[in-house]
Amino acid sequence: MAGLEDSLRGFLVELIRTAVTRLPRDVYEALERALEAEENPVARRQLEAMLENVRLAVRLGRPLCQDTGTPVFYLRVGDGFPLRSRLYEVVAEAVREATRVVPLRPNAVDPLRGRNSGDNTGRYVPWVEVELVPGDGLEAVFVAKGGGSEAPTRLVMALPLRGWEAVREAVLRAVAEAGPKPCPPFVVGVGIAAGGDQALSLAKRAALLRPLGSRHPDPEAARLEEELLEEVNRLGLGPHGFGGRVTALDLHIEYGFRHPATYAVGVVFSCWALRRASGVFEPDGSWRITSEHI
Ligand code: SF4
Repeated sequence: MAGLEDSLRGFLVELIRTAVTRLPRDVYEALERALEAEENPVARRQLEAMLENVRLAVRLGRPLCQDTGTPVFYLRVGDGFPLRSRLYEVVAEAVREATRVVPLRPNAVDPLRGRNSGDNTGRYVPWVEVELVPGDGLEAVFVAKGGGSEAPTRLVMALPLRGWEAVREAVLRAVAEAGPKPCPPFVVGVGIAAGGDQALSLAKRAALLRPLGSRHPDPEAARLEEELLEEVNRLGLGPHGFGGRVTALDLHIEYGFRHPATYAVGVVFSCWALRRASGVFEPDGSWRITSEHI
C-alpha cells in the first residue's frame, strides 16, 4: 500500500502544480475573447498583462499569482478504491509537499491564534468534498481558491414571494459592492436552494467547476444566466475595476428545490485566475491529468 500511497501523493502534487502554474484553456480563451471585445485602453492593458502573466508562469513553471489560494478538492471516489481510509491524510500530505516543491505561499491561518501553519494545511484545510461512486478509481478536481475572490461572497435569505427578482438584486448588489476586490474579470456563481449552506455550496461549484461558455442544461436556467451575465457586464466595472465592457467572463447558476418558507441565494466569485485541474487515478497507481491547460 505504501507504493500506492506514494503514487497517489505524486499525482495530487502534480495536479496542484498544474492548476497553479497553467491556466485552464477555457479560462485563457475567455480572457482572450474579453481582450477582443474591450475598447477601453486601460482595461485592454490589464487584460494583456494577465495573458502575458499566464504565459510567463507556464514558461517559468511558477505560480501565476502570488496568492496561491485555499486548496479545495472535489473527489469522486470509487466504492472499491483501495486507499479510501487514507484519503484525507494523503491529500493533506500532497498539499504540504506541493507547498514545499512548487512552491506555494502558505495561506492557512488559525483564526483563534492568528498563526500561519506555514504549509497550507490546518483544521479543515485543505477543504475536501467527497462523492462516492461505483468503481475502484478516483477522479479529482483541485482548485486554488483566491482569497480576494472569496472575501465578497454573499448569502441572502430572500423573501420567497420575490422570486427571481431577489436573485437578480442579490447578484447585482454583490457585484457592485465587491468592486475590484475579486480581481475582475471574474466568474460569478449563483446558487439557489432551501438552506444557506446549500446555496453557497452550489454557487461555489457553479463558479469553479463549470467550463466557461457552457450553459445550464435547464433551458430556463440557461436563459437567466445569459440575461444576468449581460446585466452584470452593463455595470461597467471592467478588468481590475478600471472600467470596461467585461466585468464577468461568465455567470453560472445552479439550483436545488427550496422550502416553501425559504429562498436562499448564494453568490460566489472566482477571480480571473481560475486555477483548477482535473485528473484520474487508477487502482494500479497509474494516473493522468485530464483537464486542458495552456
Ligand atoms: S483574487 Fe485571484 S487574482 Fe486576485 S490576488 Fe487572489 S488569487 Fe490572485
